[in-house]
Amino acid sequence: MASEIPKKGKEFLGMHFHCCNIYSRIYKNKQGTAYEGRCPGCGKLVVVPIGKGGTSKRFFDVY
Ligand SMILES: [Zn+2]
Repeated sequence: MASEIPKKGKEFLGMHFHCCNIYSRIYKNKQGTAYEGRCPGCGKLVVVPIGKGGTSKRFFDVY
């Protein structure tokens, strides 16, 4: 009775927020055009546009 199948596309990137020295994840936006998220420490907005076939990098640094 597993009705909750994880949806594909719930991908995320690992982000290192240097502003607060915190590791966090950001998730794809609804349109699937970019990864968006905020620093859990200071709320700084981060947007990583997704190119053709998606970005190849899995981890990003934010300064
Ligand atoms: Zn921060």
